[in-house]
Amino acid sequence: MKQFLSFLIIIMMLSNANCQRPEDTEDWSRKPGVVTPAEGTQPPSDAILLYGGAGDIEKWVHADGGPPAWEAGDVLTVVPGTPDIQTRQHFGDVQLHVEWRTPQVIEGKGQGRGNSGIFLMGLYEVQVLDSYENETYYNGQAGAIYKQHIPLVNACRPPGVWQTYDIFFTAPGFGEDGSLLSPAFITVVHNGVLIQNHVELLGPTLNIGKPRYEKHAERLPLMLQEHSNPVSFRNIWIREL
Ligand code: MG
Repeated sequence: MKQFLSFLIIIMMLSNANCQRPEDTEDWSRKPGVVTPAEGTQPPSDAILLYGGAGDIEKWVHADGGPPAWEAGDVLTVVPGTPDIQTRQHFGDVQLHVEWRTPQVIEGKGQGRGNSGIFLMGLYEVQVLDSYENETYYNGQAGAIYKQHIPLVNACRPPGVWQTYDIFFTAPGFGEDGSLLSPAFITVVHNGVLIQNHVELLGPTLNIGKPRYEKHAERLPLMLQEHSNPVSFRNIWIREL
């Protein structure tokens, strides 16, 4: 009897597997929205353009709330000695596209050559640096998650040439009590080359000391760094995820 039952169960399982149809595993629960992809300097249709020309400087402020003193024409250029700038709008998980250019005339070396930075949530820096034949500590070169992750490769173009970053960022999550529920993650593509592959952030990127998380808002401004060098930016767009 027992043997017969086992035999019956096996037969039922087999026939059940045979009964499955292709449509049983089709998912119709969420229809992806239609987005027109980026074309040249035209961002994807669902992106927020953060800098496409002089008029867009209104989307930025200095950290103290004042109007940015950076040079804002077709491209946006750091004016050394002025504060960092940040977006008026706040963001969490994002896809970010930034084009940047370090000065053609080489001045300084190491961290002093074409230094700026893109700070997700104002806290997590993807380093901008002229790392074309310019040695510095590897977790501080272009495309580094500053002092946390060395880029997989150096995909830098020469000074004076426009470069692209495509950044995919997952914001950290915090509990009510301030505990860390999930760390931040970041992926960076530099000039079409993957240089950071979903790396985990250990906390805000610091110049001195070990990083550690402290609870912060779910959305914070995107920040661009002033680091004494006239680095330029253009065609900055962002997609909220
Ligand atoms: Mg920097």
